[in-house]
Amino acid sequence: MTSKNTQSFLQFHNTQKTYDQKTLVVKDFNLSVEKGEFVTLLGPSGSGKSTVLMMIAGFESVTSGDILLDGVSIAGTAPYKRNIGMVFQNYALFPHMTIAENLAYPLKVRKLPGIEIKQKVAEYLDLVELGDFGDRAPGQLSGGQKQRVALARALIFNPSLVLMDEPLGALDKKLREQMQLEITRLHKSLGFTVIYVTHDQTEALTMSDRIAVFNEGIVQQCARPAELYEKPANAFVADFIGENNFIKGTVSSVENDRVRVKISSGEAIMARRADASNSGDACLVSVRPEKLFILPSDHAYDNTLSATFTTRLYVGDFIRYFFDMPDGTEISVKVLNDLAAPDFKEGDTAQLVCLASDCSAFAAI
Ligand code: ADP
Ligand code: MG
Repeated sequence: MTSKNTQSFLQFHNTQKTYDQKTLVVKDFNLSVEKGEFVTLLGPSGSGKSTVLMMIAGFESVTSGDILLDGVSIAGTAPYKRNIGMVFQNYALFPHMTIAENLAYPLKVRKLPGIEIKQKVAEYLDLVELGDFGDRAPGQLSGGQKQRVALARALIFNPSLVLMDEPLGALDKKLREQMQLEITRLHKSLGFTVIYVTHDQTEALTMSDRIAVFNEGIVQQCARPAELYEKPANAFVADFIGENNFIKGTVSSVENDRVRVKISSGEAIMARRADASNSGDACLVSVRPEKLFILPSDHAYDNTLSATFTTRLYVGDFIRYFFDMPDGTEISVKVLNDLAAPDFKEGDTAQLVCLASDCSAFAAI
């Protein structure tokens, strides 16, 4: 048994998982989660996110490495003794029980006195704004209401850790956004620790304290939302989170955390170094559509892409412009829809200017 270690609430040490003794679906997972943190596992379908949750819950074994909860390896603890709350996308409520009975269930299992169960059920029904729904059957609730019951049932026994696997995946956009806010508020007021799984990057960015971006069973970067967005560690993260333009080039010099990149038009771009390494290496420079400024082509500016206008899309709150670089690379620029949004004719040339701190240079993949 692993010795007591109180450093972090939940710790993964070189955790690996294989289902068929051939392919590792979780390759080498290392992460420390603090008490009260909201940590999201974000990644494409099949990248191993649910597998990580299943191992924490105890429904899947850990192939190698370890998971520690409160400093103690969970390997020897039966799933029902881990005291973990869970919400899944289609977490079926017990259909033959009323909503109140569904909420009471985890408390009955834990043998709480009847009077306390009654009080807690009323309290948690109110907490998820279903105070009048206790006597209804699950079949008489909407999808969003059912998911609020599932949430209350996962929280009612005061678990220190709550696992949520795409809990809002079945809801429509508006309801999903409303539930995101509700979960965030409950998390802030009750202070439990959350491991949340989603493939929706907006959901991850708005809800999480930290996000671990997964690809093919490997964490690509684990950081706070703003850092992931502003300083992606590699081209996968830059592409997966938000939108990005990617421009091919060659590293011409390296200065600490900055690189100078020569792009195909011959222009030089200064960028944050990210994982681009040495002078002479092929690289990719990324810059987000809202970080480019469109200026007339009659001035010389630093960090400029010369490009030709092709298309303007009216989106409402912003306007999207498309430009072609001389080598045909398409560049998208987002401009707020105000009086300064420029007008162009097809074929007009412009300069797209960006700050070096808004550009990242990655090893070419
Ligand atoms: P995600 O939640 O990121 O979509 P999963 O953890 O569900 O990914 O799956 C990761 C990989 O493991 C996938 O290739 C999936 O097919 C495989 N997998 C998941 N569960 C099992 C299982 N019980 N048996 C065999 N392979 C599985
Ligand atoms: Mg999954």
